[in-house]
Parts: sequence; structure tokens; C-alpha cells
Amino acid sequence: MVWSFKEWRRRRVTAGRELPQEAWQALVSGLPLLRGLDEEERSRLHDLALLFLDEKQFVAAGEMELVPEMALLVAVEACLPILNLGFSCYDGWVSVILYPGEFVPEHEYMDEAGVVHTVRDIRIGESWERGPMVLSWSDVSLSGEEDGVNVVIHECAHKLDMLNGGEANGFPPMHDGMKAEEWSRVFSDSYGRFCHQVDGGEQTALDPYAADSPGEFFAVTSEAFFETPQVLARDFPAVYRQLAKFYRQDPLVRFERGR
Ligand SMILES: [Zn+2]
Repeated sequence: MVWSFKEWRRRRVTAGRELPQEAWQALVSGLPLLRGLDEEERSRLHDLALLFLDEKQFVAAGEMELVPEMALLVAVEACLPILNLGFSCYDGWVSVILYPGEFVPEHEYMDEAGVVHTVRDIRIGESWERGPMVLSWSDVSLSGEEDGVNVVIHECAHKLDMLNGGEANGFPPMHDGMKAEEWSRVFSDSYGRFCHQVDGGEQTALDPYAADSPGEFFAVTSEAFFETPQVLARDFPAVYRQLAKFYRQDPLVRFERGR
């Protein structure tokens, strides 16, 4: 094992410290997303959320009035995907920017003729490589209700996806024991099938936005993996199995346990 100063310091940061207990207990007992976590998992989630609040900086944007419970909800939901991956997955960026609702960032791009265009897209979340995570509070506040939609988990999936550099493309770094070819085959088959369903006007349990790109398919299936694992395992069982290997979790077991 490699001794890491950062890990040692992080253990010291959490040792003997607690999140505000009333707010933490309210989340653990009230947020459907956390149902079925055992004692030991809750305790690790607690410590990861402490680290998140310690190391990340929350910034209010627009007319946002930030209160500690908001940061706590973001921290807890952001740490669920990395429960068995470790906090170092979120190294390299600091800011979480919260808007009260949808926001409209401006992006510039240059076309083949060298003309620069400005695009304004309405967003509820955004993640920059080695940059901030931006969230709409009104959407965060509705998350965790097991409806398959979770903007925090969505943006965190993009963050994990970008760990191997470049844009979020649906191909995050694989762990030992995972096979890159298997991941690619499963995700491209499933993405193709999903796009076909959306193009054909079929009703889909997954948010149709997943058809936007392979990166969005990974982020949207990650939301479903944690929020509605029974739906993802039914509609895209092979994707569910790959995500279980990637996140090193089996939310379906928690779902059954928590019912
Ligand atoms: Zn996205």
C-alpha cells in the first residue's frame, strides 16, 4: 500500500467530527435515495460528506440565498456515487456554484469558416473539467426522491467521466478487473438501442436526454442506477452490471432492503 499524506490528513479531518446531527439525521431518515444503506455505509457517507464540505467551496449565484442545509444535501448526494471509490475521485476542482433555478451560460465556438458564435443554453447543471460544478437549487431540492432524476448525481457522473482527461464521453477510467472492450460494447449497443427508441417516439423510462450523446447516456443511466435501480436493471441489465462494477455498489440490493 502506498502511504498518502492526503489520505492521512483526510482521515484526521473526519476523526471525531460530526455533521450537524439534526440535519444529517433528517436526510438519512427522510431521503428515499439513502434508504437501505447499512450502518457502516452511512458512517462512510457521513465522513465523505464532511470532507466534501471541508474541501469544496459553495458559491451562491444569481439571487441565490445559500443556507448550510443546501450544501449538506449536495455533499451527501455527491458522495453517494463515490462511497466505494474514495474522495480522491473529486480532486482537482473546488467550486460548487448554486443558482436558484435554471441558468443560461454563454458558450462560444468557432465554425469551419472561423466565425465565432455565441450560444445560450438553458441548463439545470453543468460540470467543467477541473472546474466548477454548477447546479440549479430548485432541481437539487427535488432530487433523491427515487424518480430516476438527480442533477447532482448526473453532474458527478460527468466529473468521474472526465477523470481520464478531455470531455465527458461516457468512457470513464476503468478499475482493475473491468474490461474496457466490454464497457464499450455494452454502452454502445445500449446507447444505439435507446436512440432508436427515442427516434421512434417510444415512451422510455430513462430521460430522453440520454440520447444526446454517449456522455449524457452514461450520466443519465448513472442517475437511474442510484435513483431507480429496478428500472435500469429491467430495461438495460447489461448497463446496470457495468455501472455496478464501476461504482462498486449494488443499489438494487438496497432498494429491496429499503422497501
Ligand atoms: Zn449532462
